[in-house]
Amino acid sequence: MHCPFCNQQETKVIDSRLVAEGHQIRRRRACLQCNERFTTFEMAELVMPRVVKTDDTHEPFNEDKLRSGLIRALEKRPVSVEETEQLINRVKSELRATGERQISSQLIGNLVMEHLRKLDQVAYVRFASVYRSFEDVAEFGKTIAGLKS
Ligand SMILES: [Zn+2]
Repeated sequence: MHCPFCNQQETKVIDSRLVAEGHQIRRRRACLQCNERFTTFEMAELVMPRVVKTDDTHEPFNEDKLRSGLIRALEKRPVSVEETEQLINRVKSELRATGERQISSQLIGNLVMEHLRKLDQVAYVRFASVYRSFEDVAEFGKTIAGLKS
């Protein structure tokens, strides 16, 4: 990678460490020409399965959409940004681990809810009510009952 200061090609790595729970490598580099130091981040580019929606249409997995849904559910709840990001990373790893090229939006929703339930029950109910768009009150009641058990 070219030095961002003088554009010279030869740089050397002076430090490497794992960050973001091992999902990224942070490298400190020094330019062999101008001696300036800079940091690079590397992460594996892994292909996420495509999402099959309930109406059978497909769309790419959208991390931002998941994040905004979670942020809405977690509004004013005692859950940190780090915990939210960890949840997103776990869901993504689990989706990749299935090895499937296509995955239903329902399965993703269930995975998210499973994790959210352990993290914050209020957020879980909020997320579930949006995600499942409960068809009747009985189903909502079952979810609440499921929380108590
Ligand atoms: Zn340089």
